[in-house]
Formats: sequence, structure tokens, C-alpha cells
Amino acid sequence: MEKKCSFCGNKNFTQKKVQYLYKGGDRFLFVNDVPCEECDFCGEQYFKAGDLKKIEKTFNNIGKAKKKAVKEIKVPVEEFAKI
Ligand SMILES: [Zn+2]
Repeated sequence: MEKKCSFCGNKNFTQKKVQYLYKGGDRFLFVNDVPCEECDFCGEQYFKAGDLKKIEKTFNNIGKAKKKAVKEIKVPVEEFAKI
């Protein structure tokens, strides 16, 4: 099966491990070293659906911080290999 970038149509990709930022409402989760394929032309990154589900599940398992601040955001960071 030939892969094709859905943004630019390029067919060349590079396997990478990148930091993924998951956004859920006003909360975020950074996950380090997530495997992806990056388009060589436009840089769009493609992740496996199963990996994203894993990240979403981890995000949902991390409790919301109880302390409220006006301009402070708390950003948990995970290592993909450990989730
Ligand atoms: Zn592309």
C-alpha cells in the first residue's frame, strides 16, 4: 500500500520519534518519543490510531489539578515507552 500525504500529496516519509501534544479542553499532555511518519515535503506528521488512543487514555487517567491559577498551566509529560 502506497502512502500519500493528505496535505501535499508527497509520497516520501521519514520515521521519527517526536514529542506529541495532546489537547483536551483546557488541559494538555506532552508525550515524548511517540513514533510517527513525517512528510518529507510539508512536515505533516502521521501517527498510528492505536498510539493516539493510548495517549488519550493516559490523558484521561491523569487527574485534573485542583488548584486554580489565572495564568499558570500545568503540563504533565509522559514517555511513550512507559504508557
Ligand atoms: Zn506533506
